[in-house]
Parts: sequence; structure tokens; C-alpha cells
Amino acid sequence: MKPGPYRFKAVILSRTQYGEADLIVNFLTREHGKMSGLARHGRKSRKRFGNVLLSPALVELAFTQPRGRDLVRLDQGDLVRSFEGLGRDFHLLALGQQSLELADAFCAPLDPAPDVFDWLVWSLERMDVGVRPRETAFIFQLKLLILTGFGPNLAACPLCGRPPEDGRTAELKPEHGGLVCRRCSPGGFSVSPGTLKIMSLIQGLPLDRIDRVRIGDASLDEASPFLLSSIRSILGRDLKTARFVEPGRVGPPR
Ligand SMILES: [Zn+2]
Repeated sequence: MKPGPYRFKAVILSRTQYGEADLIVNFLTREHGKMSGLARHGRKSRKRFGNVLLSPALVELAFTQPRGRDLVRLDQGDLVRSFEGLGRDFHLLALGQQSLELADAFCAPLDPAPDVFDWLVWSLERMDVGVRPRETAFIFQLKLLILTGFGPNLAACPLCGRPPEDGRTAELKPEHGGLVCRRCSPGGFSVSPGTLKIMSLIQGLPLDRIDRVRIGDASLDEASPFLLSSIRSILGRDLKTARFVEPGRVGPPR
């Protein structure tokens, strides 16, 4: 990257305290993908950063790239859209944080990610105003996997080539990348024909048509564990936010 200066819209993914008053901030841009920057006095400089680095937000960041450094130098941050509505409810906040953690985990540094950026902003905006948060989180996870090359195969069993049987429950297995038939490999996540259909529909839908989709709780109950298990298997670890968003495990961190 040239030294800049640059000014880009960014979603703040995470931040780490550095010394007394500085922050190291991970953020996602459409143009350069995931980046990291050092914000001198980022915790305290109201004039340059307000509070925009400290909570989930869409911001406009001004930064420069010092030669030979991996970290950019953040000079200013202006709020474009705060997602402070997520703070209304612990479960909502956990779902929002999970979207941020997923974008952080799946996006590579300096690899342009315009679609992931747009879907992430869409998901945070919807959760912020409380539009079907579980459905929103699910759609973002599925779209993120597709956009980063890990989308589940839902068309046919990869071992024998058979498509799912009409009207019958299908099996999904993370280790086979999605659909697999019972004869080839029994014991996956069972999903109804309706759930499989809605997942296939979402795969092909662009952002401007996604708001027509409604996913029932029964389908989310069936398909979410498969997606989260796939994510765990791709990353080779649990998400930090996993224990806060799993059904029946809602509660503040201890
Ligand atoms: Zn098969």
C-alpha cells in the first residue's frame, strides 16, 4: 500500500488496549479488506475519535500507512452509523459480536471484501433495530461462508452423486461440506425439505432481495447447529462468542 493519506468507510471489528491510552483496532473496509491500525490516544482523544473505536459501529477512518509497518496509523474516526441498539439486549449484542468475530476470522488482511462488508453492514443494521436477529445472524453466516469459498454443498451427495430425495429429511455433515446421503454416511444434522429449500434459496439471493426471505424458528433450530459446526470445523476452533449465542446458554460472561 502507498503511504496515503486514506479515508475509507470501515466497520470496527475489534480493539485491543495498547499502553495507557492507545488502541490497536482491527477493521474491515470494502476496498482493502481487513486492516489493523494504531490509534494514538484512541481511548481518550474525543476530538479525533469520539467514542467510535470503542463499540460496534460503521465509521469513516482517516489513516496513513507508514513505510515498512504492518499497522496503519489512524488519524481520525467519524461516526457514520452506530449500532448501539445492540446494547439493548445481551443476546442481541452477542449475535452482533459474533458477526464481527466471523468477519474478522474469515477475511484475509488487505484482500478486498466488498460483498462481505456489505452483508456485514446489512446484518448489523438489521440486528441494531431488532429485525429477526436469529434469522439475520443465520443469513450472514451462510453468505459469509459462500463468499469466502466455504459455502455448503446442498445439491447432491458428493460420494454417490444422488440429489436429496423429494419430501424426505436430508442429512448435512460439516466433514462432507454439506449434503450427504444416509446410505453413504449416516448420522449428520437432519434438516427438513423446507429447511434445505430455504438454504438453497438464500445461497443465490442478492442483498437487495434478501428482505423477502422469512426463515421459521424450526428451520433455524435445524440449520443453525450445522452452520456453526461447519464454522468450527473450518476454523479449527470454537468462536469466542459461541457460548453466548447458543440456545439455552444465554447469560453474561463470567
Ligand atoms: Zn451418497
